[in-house]
Amino acid sequence: MIKSRARSLGFLDCGISRAGFLQDEAENLKQYLREGRHGDMHYMENHFDKRTDPTSLVEGARSVISLILPYYPKQQQRNDTYRISKYAYGKDYHIVMKSMLRDLLNFLDQEYGGVSGRSFVDSAPVMDKAWAQKAGLGWIGKNTNLLSRKYGSFFYIGELIVDMELEYDTPIRDYCGTCRQCIDACPTGALTGPYRIDASRCISYLTIENKGEIPEAFRGTYKDWIFGCDICQDVCPWNRKARYAEHEDLQPHPDLLSLSRTDWEQLSREHFREIFRHSAVKRAKYEGLMRNIQFLS
Ligand code: SF4
Ligand code: SF4
Repeated sequence: MIKSRARSLGFLDCGISRAGFLQDEAENLKQYLREGRHGDMHYMENHFDKRTDPTSLVEGARSVISLILPYYPKQQQRNDTYRISKYAYGKDYHIVMKSMLRDLLNFLDQEYGGVSGRSFVDSAPVMDKAWAQKAGLGWIGKNTNLLSRKYGSFFYIGELIVDMELEYDTPIRDYCGTCRQCIDACPTGALTGPYRIDASRCISYLTIENKGEIPEAFRGTYKDWIFGCDICQDVCPWNRKARYAEHEDLQPHPDLLSLSRTDWEQLSREHFREIFRHSAVKRAKYEGLMRNIQFLS
């Protein structure tokens, strides 16, 4: 009933797992932090207990309901211009998905009575890929994204952590096989090996999270990306199955599709505000986006 309701609300897929300590992921996270692969994202060092065990995050947590929402755009930017990651084309996914998750939580409460829980979209210490994997929605590929055999990886992930006991799904196996297209295609060497990312070398980090200057060592390496990067997803064969964003709030502002290089270089603060008023691109701020453009131009 929960899964069918999730689909009717517009989610692509839904999987459910028992809430508890994530043993393997806790070890991996410790090592990732120890090696400094998180760059300046120091917030990742906080809330280790909550990050690895949702029962420390939500009182009485019994189950994690993972949900995915597709964002592959039907129309894309012109080919000869600066690029922004496809996840940021439409309205900020945090806002869109939060509202859908709230609807699902209300449904659970109405249907079963007295259900309490919380919704999360990349906004609190929840390891969303690990939970989605546990719930059988896909496997974590060599590019460190969650991959679905049915839908590829161009989707957002969110969760409801609830105090209900439910029926649980089981994980699926890894279908990357001998492929290593993502590793070979990564222009900055951020994928240092299968299933290993050095976020401090990743274009997504360098163009969004990194607040200082972009290190000179990366000049000339990262093509046309000015906000995020999709290369390791674009080359993944499983993304031939990517599903289009159907949600009306995820459709791009028409100007985003038509901006030329010169338009980007001359983008005014007002035009930036108009195009990205509700978009995740606001995270980089106008100054950040212009820094990224200047680095490439
Ligand atoms: S997003 Fe781009 S830079 Fe980051 S790992 Fe993937 S291909 Fe490399
Ligand atoms: S490109 Fe190949 S190795 Fe990389 S995530 Fe996709 S299937 Fe796995």
